[in-house]
Amino acid sequence: MEKKYISTRNQQKEINFYQAIVQGIGEDGGLLVPDFDFTKMDLDVLSKLNYVDLATEVLSTFVPEEGKELIHDACLNAYGKGLFPEIVVPVKKAGDVYVAELFHGQTAAFKDMALSLLPYLMTLSLKQLKEEREVMILAATSGDTGKAALEGFKDVEGTCIKVFYPLDGVSAIQQQQMVSQTGKNVKVVGIHGNFDDAQSAVKKAFASEELKVASDQHNVFLSSANSINVGRLIPQIVYYFHSYFELVRNNEIKLGDKINFCVPSGNFGNCLAGYFAKKMGLPIDKFVCASNKNNILTDFFTTGKYDANREFYKTNAPAMDILVSSNLERLVWFMSDGDGEKVRQYMDKLNSEGVYEVDDATFAKIKDQFKAGCLSEDEILTTIKTCFNETGYLLDTHTAIGYGVLKQYQQETGDHTKTVLLSTASPYKFPESVYQAIYGEELDVYTAIDKLSEKTGVPVPQALAGIKEREVLHKEAIDKTEIISFIKSEIEAM
Ligand SMILES: *Cc1c(COP(=O)(O)O)cnc(C)c1O
Repeated sequence: MEKKYISTRNQQKEINFYQAIVQGIGEDGGLLVPDFDFTKMDLDVLSKLNYVDLATEVLSTFVPEEGKELIHDACLNAYGKGLFPEIVVPVKKAGDVYVAELFHGQTAAFKDMALSLLPYLMTLSLKQLKEEREVMILAATSGDTGKAALEGFKDVEGTCIKVFYPLDGVSAIQQQQMVSQTGKNVKVVGIHGNFDDAQSAVKKAFASEELKVASDQHNVFLSSANSINVGRLIPQIVYYFHSYFELVRNNEIKLGDKINFCVPSGNFGNCLAGYFAKKMGLPIDKFVCASNKNNILTDFFTTGKYDANREFYKTNAPAMDILVSSNLERLVWFMSDGDGEKVRQYMDKLNSEGVYEVDDATFAKIKDQFKAGCLSEDEILTTIKTCFNETGYLLDTHTAIGYGVLKQYQQETGDHTKTVLLSTASPYKFPESVYQAIYGEELDVYTAIDKLSEKTGVPVPQALAGIKEREVLHKEAIDKTEIISFIKSEIEAM
């Protein structure tokens, strides 16, 4: 069987895995999706593998047959060379909730899970395609993607990377992590605007005829490090399997038992990867999709209507401050049985009117598997405190949303199926909020880090050690309307 990728909007010729990685997004502005049946995995076999081998087995079902060895090398480089702890994703317990800690990579963000691997997938794909042009990676970030992508792509041959972040939409730590980034091929640019502005400008850049002409002249092409890239999505399937097997290995469940996953969500890539895992035979019953005050996903999963005509809030969980949740388009495509025409109509409506509503049959399928809820900023802080006092587990603001929403869901439905909560950030990424939540005192960010570790005994991740002293190397700031022209000048400078 040939493994082809097509666009959710139906107007892209079939391409293979390597082309999908390199291209990043559909030529029609849609997202690339696998147009083949997912491989049903042998759980018994997989449960005995370490993370690198598990990742190899899972990921190689998405690539051409002869690609397995290349994928194994890539997984080994990403996960097996000391950038992560040996177990890669530790699964801990906070009361009766299992917490899969996705933040032990080199930037202390869950984005490291995929972005440690993506540069390897990119270079192997470029080689397979005998591509000689340079690739310019564009990334819009609400904080964590930027740093993780920079770290992943810095000094990777044949690539350069430009990261755009909202100047007052990321945490102090996130900003300091990005602006102090080293590497010959990296650029970090603050924008006056919010994350959605950055993301939509980057999406426009890919579709721009003008930039295409300039790129061709300068022997370069554009690609994406955002979770619209298939290469961001599929590495995230692996830790669903891994977390499940950790529960089996620790005798919390038996192989074959169904569990739920709770996912703090923004662009919906993380949760969607779980749906892929389910399609590959992992026994998952429900997904609980958690949001902050920007609760557009909660509304979608309860009504079937995606309504972006609403206020955008900046919250204490900034990585989830999003109104246009890109990967939802992929879920809608799968739930509409791959009807690209229908998805294109929805997305046209979203672009022109800011809203679309899926039909009843599609919504019924979605509602059956996806539950949702949201937390206010105050509820986030209360949840951090309650969880710490009751279980001793220290949550960051994003993971707290998952924890709080899960508790609400359990109470409302009586569904006490064992649940893995995906923890998307270290508490030390948002130390002011976490400290204030538990001890009631407002501290500056660096004092908060020190005092939080002193009082809770939870160690500060290596990735954040000495961050205060790092030199600021990137000071550029532009308006959101200048992103496209900025990219053009960068292309012309190649
Ligand atoms: C990116 C991010 C999320 C949202 O993940 P999606 O895959 O975009 O839904 C949640 N929490 C943190 C800390 C993140 O960095």
